[in-house]
Order: sequence, then C-alpha cells, then structure tokens
Amino acid sequence: MTATPPPVVSRNPADPTDVVARVRPAGAFGAADAVERARTAQTGWLRGGAAARSEALAAIAAAVESAADELAALAVREVGKPLTEARAEVARTAAIWRYYAQAPYEPVGAVHETAGPAGSGGSGLLLTRRRPHGVAGLITPWNFPFAIPSWKAAPALAAGNAVVLKPAPEATACAQRLAEIVQRELPERVFTVVPGGAAEGAAVASAADAVSFTGSTGAGQAVAAAAAARGIPAQAEMGGLNAAIVLPDADIERAAAHLAAAIAGYAGQKCTATSRVIAVGAAADPLREALAEALRSITVGDPADPATVCGPLISERAREHVGDAWAGLALPAGGTVHDGPGWYVAPTLAEKVPADHRLLREEVFGPLAALLTADDLAEAVRVTNAVPYGLVTSVHTTDLDAALGALDELDTGMIRINAPSTGVDFHLPFGGTKDSSHGPREQGRAALEFYTSSRTYTLSPGKTM
Ligand code: NAD
Repeated sequence: MTATPPPVVSRNPADPTDVVARVRPAGAFGAADAVERARTAQTGWLRGGAAARSEALAAIAAAVESAADELAALAVREVGKPLTEARAEVARTAAIWRYYAQAPYEPVGAVHETAGPAGSGGSGLLLTRRRPHGVAGLITPWNFPFAIPSWKAAPALAAGNAVVLKPAPEATACAQRLAEIVQRELPERVFTVVPGGAAEGAAVASAADAVSFTGSTGAGQAVAAAAAARGIPAQAEMGGLNAAIVLPDADIERAAAHLAAAIAGYAGQKCTATSRVIAVGAAADPLREALAEALRSITVGDPADPATVCGPLISERAREHVGDAWAGLALPAGGTVHDGPGWYVAPTLAEKVPADHRLLREEVFGPLAALLTADDLAEAVRVTNAVPYGLVTSVHTTDLDAALGALDELDTGMIRINAPSTGVDFHLPFGGTKDSSHGPREQGRAALEFYTSSRTYTLSPGKTM
C-alpha cells in the first residue's frame, strides 16, 4: 500500500492561521501525465491559426483586467504582497498577455538566396521558419505569482506550444485562479497547472519539450542539468546578490529613497532587490545617515493596507533565516523581529560586514542590506563583480562618464542608472550572468525565440523548366 502524499498547503504570511489553499499534489506520475495530455492538445492549438491564438491571448488580458481587484487581493492574502505592489503586478500581467497577443502575427522566418549557381531548371528557395517545441514546462516561484507564470506562458502559447505550469506550493491558489481565467479562453489541455513541489517540478522537466524555470539557484541548476541530459532547451532565472553603487556626486536623498524601496519593498523578496550598497568616497557618511533614516521610515505592516511597503516574509523559516543573517553585525537601522501572528522583520541595514560573511556571498531574500565602502568607482565595480551572481546593479550618479564607464565594466545582466535595482519593463529581455541565469533571456521578443526552434527548408523546382 502506498502512503497518501501530504497535501500542498499555502498560508497567509500575515496570518498563518489562515489556510489559503490545501490541495492534493499532482505527484510525479500526474505531472508527467499532464505533459502527455498537453502534447495531444498542442497540434490543434497550433493548427488553429494565428488569429485564434491572438484572440485568445487578448481575451485573457481583458479577463485579467476585469478580475484585477480580486487577483490583487489573492496575492496579498497568499504571498503577503503589499496591495499597491499586488495591483501593479496584476496590471503588468494583463499588459504581458496583451503584448504577446500580437506575437502570432509576427514574421517567423526569412528567405535566403542559394549559395551555389541556379540549377538547370531555375533557382530554388531557402527558407527558415521558427516552430514551437510542443509542450513548454514552466516551473515558477511564489514571489510574482501572476506575472512570472504569465511572462512564460504567454510567449509559449503565442508561438503555438501547449503549457504545463508547476507553480510554487506557496502560490498554489494564485496559480489555480490564473488557470481558471486562462483555460476559459483556450482549448482543453492547452494550459494545465500541476500542483506540488520539487518532485512535480522534476517530473515536468523530465517530460516537457522545453523547460523554463524561475527560482533559487540550486533548484534552477538541477533543472538545467536535467534538461541538458535530455537535450531539450532550458532557461533558468535564479537568485541575485545585487549591488547599488552610490557616487559622491549623486543626489544622496533621492538615492537613499530608491535604495530603501529596493531593499525593503515586498520585504526584499525579489530577485532584483538590493542587498549590497557600496558608497564611494565621500558618499559614505551622508548615505549611511540618509539610508538608515529612509529604511526606518518605511511602512511595515499589514500587506492589505495600501500604505504598506514592507509586508511579512513568506514563512517562519524565512523569518529565522533573515534574523540569523544579521546576527552579530553592527546595524544602523532595523534588526528587530516583530512579535505577532505575521512573519515580519524590520527593514535592516548592516555595516562593517566581514568580507567572507554570508550576507556578501549568498542571497538572503529579506529586507536586509550590507553597507560597504569603496575608494573609487573602479573598486566599487570590482566589489560588485566579486560574487557568484550577476543579475542587476544600480548606479547612482550625475556624472555621465562614470555612468558610461559602469555600463562597460559591470558584469550583471541589467544595469540601472539612477533607478532602483527593482523594476522591470516587461517587453525587454530579462536575465543575468553567472549563477543568476542559465540559457536565453526571458521576456520581449527573446522569449518568442526561446519557445521556438528554427527549421531550414530547401525548395527546389520539381521539373526541368
Ligand atoms: P525555489 O527554488 O524554492 O522554488 C521555485 C520552483 O521550483 C517551485 O515551483 C519549486 O517547487 C520548484 N522546485 C524546487 N526544487 C526543484 C527541483 N529540484 N526540481 C524542479 N523543481 C523544483 O524558489 P522560491 O522560494 O519559490 O523563490 C524564491 C527564489 O526565486 C529566489 O532565489 C529568487 O531570487 C528567485 N527568483 C528569481 C527571479 C529571476 O527572474 N531571476 C525572479 C523571481 C524569483
């Protein structure tokens, strides 16, 4: 007799007694079976034509917009996202579906001349054409429960793939609600959600025709290795340890406000959050004061309150992990764990952090940053680059030469000048270097390439003319 697997349970991080979802996991067999069934539905979806795909995606965008308030409230409740950010995520989700609704009409290839002389009967045609892989397996984290599944699913579907989504257990209800909206506009089995954890994720990666992962670096590398062994396309967007460089000529108050938002917004639970602040030269003292003050003035509390910037952490374990990370360090701001039902900690700044401290080596995923100093921009760039991650860096300066120099020298996939490290435009390529990313970029046109592969066609005349 086989034991019944434990249910997938998600809880409200602001009130852990509130169980938001309790569902049966799909199991590894169920996940693989979902991929098989999706494969049978995919052909009809592709053959249905570009107009049908475009209309379906546009209808999903409209349905997301109609359900915006309800979806934002669900993200607040299930993953503790502050309401203002939750609303922005839902608006972005609708924009993503609308953007990709045009993609089915985009050109899918090119015509080339033959290399050799024209044959005796006239010249042929060489064509390239991008075709979908079949079933795209999507494995997603909890922190953007609508936007991340959508920025993977929309381009995959636009290109004619079917989709099997394995969401994070912590975001199960959000994924199921998104599925209801999406499935209403699509043929059966073209979009399926398989609830579960690592076992279901691994099963999707071992059955799908392409896999797109977002989450922690260890899990992403395991998924990428499994995909490589099967020879299927894979992309993995993973962790970050993002730096903000502040030069002495910067508007320090403005920089501090940007940094505080990037450190503590959504309790720092974004891959693009700032976790290292590097003050260059004379910026050190004023920035230390301004940033500590800005962090102290961040509104911490109930994520359902539109004024809240820093809500709870996702779990009790996450709260312990963040508290352990600052233990023993000098803390100009924060350093308190809130009592009470929710998993809250105060936005925190640490200084005099030893170079080998884990805060400077590993992603902590909380509202916590280390304040470091550098003598000049060159040293700040060296410190920024000296970590295993390379997702995003922000640079705060009014010196154009310094900004241009930083663009050339920083080894991160994204660089933002005078803007917080957080914040992503959905129509541009997104991704990093080193342990932050594996494989082609997400979003924009880059995503359409990932979900397709190129075929080369040779058309020669059948008769001598
Ligand atoms: P996680 O790695 O724990 O889980 C992500 C997903 O992978 C979940 O669906 C999980 O069930 C699944 N999974 C876990 N182990 C697996 C395995 N061995 N095989 C297959 N699937 C597996 O991450 P999380 O806690 O949900 O999310 C937080 C992490 O996500 C942070 O590291 C953050 O930086 C990262 N993240 C990255 C980006 C980005 O675009 N770079 C965006 C958002 C979040």
